[in-house]
Amino acid sequence: MERTLIADTPKLVGEKVKIKGFVHVVRAHGKIAFADITDRSGVIQVVGGEDLAALRPQYVVEIEGTVNSRPEKMVNDKIDTGKVELSVEKIVVIAKSEEMPFDMGAEELNLELPTLLDYRALTLRYPKVIAIFKVQEVVIDAFRRALQAKDFMEFQAPSIISSVPEGGAEVFKVDYFGRNVYLSQSPQLYKSLLVGAFERVFSVNKIFRAEPSVTTRHLTEVTSLDAEFGFIDSWEEVQEMEEYVVRFIFSEVEKKCTKELAMFGATLPKLSDKIPQVKLRDAQEIIFKRTGRDIREEKDLAPEDEREICKWALEEKGSDLVFISHFVTKKKPFYVYPDPKDPTYAFSVDLLGRGVEWSSGGQRLNDYKTILEHVREWGLKEEDIELYLQSFKYGVPPLGGFALGAERVTMHILGLKNIREASLFPRDMERVDVRLSETDQK
Ligand code: ATP
Ligand code: MG
Repeated sequence: MERTLIADTPKLVGEKVKIKGFVHVVRAHGKIAFADITDRSGVIQVVGGEDLAALRPQYVVEIEGTVNSRPEKMVNDKIDTGKVELSVEKIVVIAKSEEMPFDMGAEELNLELPTLLDYRALTLRYPKVIAIFKVQEVVIDAFRRALQAKDFMEFQAPSIISSVPEGGAEVFKVDYFGRNVYLSQSPQLYKSLLVGAFERVFSVNKIFRAEPSVTTRHLTEVTSLDAEFGFIDSWEEVQEMEEYVVRFIFSEVEKKCTKELAMFGATLPKLSDKIPQVKLRDAQEIIFKRTGRDIREEKDLAPEDEREICKWALEEKGSDLVFISHFVTKKKPFYVYPDPKDPTYAFSVDLLGRGVEWSSGGQRLNDYKTILEHVREWGLKEEDIELYLQSFKYGVPPLGGFALGAERVTMHILGLKNIREASLFPRDMERVDVRLSETDQK
């Protein structure tokens, strides 16, 4: 008999089927036993006798039986197969499982984060954990499709780079045949030089940050959603493109992840007609007026400022998202485009959502001479960014772009408390799959 996917069983009432999957939970009541069996398509209740009662959580099984309608009062609205159940006729155990270190059948997994990660290969099997990565897949796929629809071309960004033009503190050094190379913190220079070849590009790539502190929003290995495009008329065009992409991501998640959102009691971030935008200095003024905290001379927003300006955006503009623009030029990398009206500030724009930065972007310099001036002013060496300069020497149109962190977006769509939950295999200062305690460092 061919395998039937669990999701197809409601259409097959009265028929004999063979399902294959994992035992999620077994409930034995005397001679009668119930089990929830899961496969990639869903979950179904199976009814049987002693054979079924003998199964243990996470056993891999093949079960043949008849699909029956459940009695009216036994219908479970919470699952797609809630109107049916499978009466067991034959069970084959394909693979056994050791006793589980925690109760996988529980409604909530309720594990502390370290345990959730120490047992990652197992906790990834939990339905609510699976749901996080289904949402993430939709986020990334929507990012791709939004840009493909606007004629952007996907490229593969390199991860090994020979120098660190964006500042060296947060970079991982790698031994490369006896020389030092680095893990890329961002595909920024590559994506902008590619505008010279393809006009509109995007990439879904890993970036690496040697974040020296442990926070709930930083990983050391991040999935970066990068876009860059040329022939822009203004920096606002970059912001508009980003808004279009983010709205498309939300609409796709809303359409395809209803069940997953419900599992987390999550609602998508609230949006008004247009995402509000404020300049850094105006944002600081607003924060000063609201809290009395005077940060008006600061060159950036601190985490509590990001939270406060997001609160303002929600209360005053009805939006969970807000763009902050015109950051201080000298605090940004050399390629930022200073506002000609006041070059102290740049055409740079961050997107904040639900209290945290989701992305950074803006217009970039494209005039070769100005780029060279910035390179000198920022104290960089031309030979360190040779290919990038090569491209701009031979003409690149006005350009801009942005980078969204996929884990941050997933985390804030679902309301997760820690970004580690939004990464299959999160890396931080203290963990690369296993905990890196000081004693086991060589
Ligand atoms: P933050 O100030 O929040 O540390 P950043 O300004 O250093 O972020 P960017 O260099 O602007 O980060 O990177 C673009 C986007 O990539 C960020 O807005 C964020 O979504 C994501 N990102 C950057 N660093 C990390 C990290 N260490 N962990 C998770 N996501 C990150
Ligand atoms: Mg940033």
